[in-house]
Amino acid sequence: MSILVYTESENGKFKKNAFEVASYAKAVADQMGTSVTAISFNASEHENLGAYGVSKVLNVTHDILKTFNAEAYAKVIAQGAEKEGAKVVVVSSSANSKFLAPILAAKLKAGYVPNVVAAPDSTSPFKVKRTAFSNKGFAHTEISTDIKIIGVSNNAFGLKENQADAQVEDFSPELGDGDFSVKSVDIDKVAGKVTIADAEIVVSGGRGMKGPENWGMIEELADVLGAATACSKPVSDMGWRPHGEHVGQTGKPVAANLYVAVGISGAIQHLAGVSASKTKVVINNDPEAPFFKAADYGIVGDAFEVVPKLVEKLKEF
Ligand code: FAD
Repeated sequence: MSILVYTESENGKFKKNAFEVASYAKAVADQMGTSVTAISFNASEHENLGAYGVSKVLNVTHDILKTFNAEAYAKVIAQGAEKEGAKVVVVSSSANSKFLAPILAAKLKAGYVPNVVAAPDSTSPFKVKRTAFSNKGFAHTEISTDIKIIGVSNNAFGLKENQADAQVEDFSPELGDGDFSVKSVDIDKVAGKVTIADAEIVVSGGRGMKGPENWGMIEELADVLGAATACSKPVSDMGWRPHGEHVGQTGKPVAANLYVAVGISGAIQHLAGVSASKTKVVINNDPEAPFFKAADYGIVGDAFEVVPKLVEKLKEF
């Protein structure tokens, strides 16, 4: 019996969260005295998974699975789990993993806990700490089903190198006529830019930026920090920024190591989606802005003066 980990990839390359979930699975496996098997879809460079403790890779290459498709991916992962006799499946808490994991849970009759933010508990890897109440609190949950699915939050556990010799085995799943394929996906993404989902640092702008013509300074700050850019809901509603950048309760969740909010008031719906970030820096000219209560560091000042100065200083490093 091994632990199965679903390792996400894009254009054949593993995403950073693939190495995070592998690191987490290895920690669980060590407690259980077992090994980690990864399941990968149309990816290469499997040896990179070995660096994070994966001993075996089920390599799936199938035309239907070239583009993410929650139903079909869940079906294949379930077959992989059955083949390996895996009682534990580890996935990330990305939008794709959150889409497929409930389907997988139904297929495996497993208990599923997403948004896990801490290392496995020392007394049992199935007692997990996860975010709750729209990230306003934490819950400690014990998964008691025979088969368990753990969804690990991005940037929560980090990368833990743990060299293993990843043996690659081609895995041909059974996919029937009813399994459809997604032909293409339109993603709001600028080539070469860091995506919000993968970002360790996110720089986000709100209505305090006054208009789309002022976004150059948000992008400059993001560039110098190697960060993704994001925005509040009204900013994307007004068309100042693409909808793909909207973060918060009704937008993308952010669990970055550093979240920099510029000209954002800190409404409860915004905080619900970003407060899982480890360090929050707020730049706002209103000292009473609610975001300051949730901030680790705050700068009370005009964004149009503070941000250029910050960029200038950061360029010196
Ligand atoms: P504002 O509230 O207008 O705040 C602008 C801030 O900029 C102010 O604090 C102001 O002091 C500051 N400012 C102004 N000028 C400057 C300057 N020169 N320098 C520095 N600071 C300056 N919102 C989200 O963001 N994400 C969501 O997912 C989301 N979901 C929602 C779901 C529902 C059901 C509802 C009802 C609302 C939702 N909202 C969401 C909207 C949310 O309630 C707020 O209206 C929104 O977050 C406010 O955006 P903002 O902070 O950019 O704008």
